[in-house]
Amino acid sequence: MQMNCETIVLAHRDYGERDRLYTLFTRERGKLTVRGSGARKSGAKLAPHLEPLMRSHIVIAKNRGRGTVTFALCEESFAHLREEALALEAARGVVAATEKLLRDEDPHTDVYDTLLTYLRTMEVLSARTVSWRTYAVVTQGTYFHILSRLGWHVSPTTCVRCGGRLAQHAQYTYVLSEGGFVCASCYRASRVPAQHSLELSRDAVAALHVFCTNTIPSLAKLTVGEDVCDELALLTARRIAWVS
Ligand SMILES: [Zn+2]
Repeated sequence: MQMNCETIVLAHRDYGERDRLYTLFTRERGKLTVRGSGARKSGAKLAPHLEPLMRSHIVIAKNRGRGTVTFALCEESFAHLREEALALEAARGVVAATEKLLRDEDPHTDVYDTLLTYLRTMEVLSARTVSWRTYAVVTQGTYFHILSRLGWHVSPTTCVRCGGRLAQHAQYTYVLSEGGFVCASCYRASRVPAQHSLELSRDAVAALHVFCTNTIPSLAKLTVGEDVCDELALLTARRIAWVS
């Protein structure tokens, strides 16, 4: 069987003496691990089209077990992003998290399109060399968009347990095991271990609300404080560790 796919290359690793295993996020079939025969030989034709982060058109031959890449053509290499160290580090983090969160052969065109929009946005920003905080805001916003599309949406306005509207407080409690914010009375009643919850400031919760209601390219126009970026980065890291 031959499969024609559009893919974002998530990662690759060496396999055997001359081959590589590629972890691909295909638009049509979700996450796949396929073999690149001879990909480490000098002059290998397919390898330059299958570097992590690239968007490529590929053909996979598959009978039993893992498929093998028989054709690859890079459509977007994100050349500016690759040259901008801070942007590249941020993008690698998003790609690694996406790899962790996706199940094998479980198509998610909405997540694929979100990741592609993110890479394209970071490419445009890298060409202009913006501040690290702009990369951080776009990146944090993207994490929330991806988590949301995978079913882990977090509402910054309602209590995940009782559904009541969260009162305006200086601090908000996010409970990892509940997957959302809980109001003060639910938190008191829940006896959640301290290590399963996270306190967020009102500013961080407001920023989260803006992240969830804006498109990824428009996040680049937002101004978000350094402390808020750090709070949301911690929330993202703990949520991803919790759900993956
Ligand atoms: Zn409640």
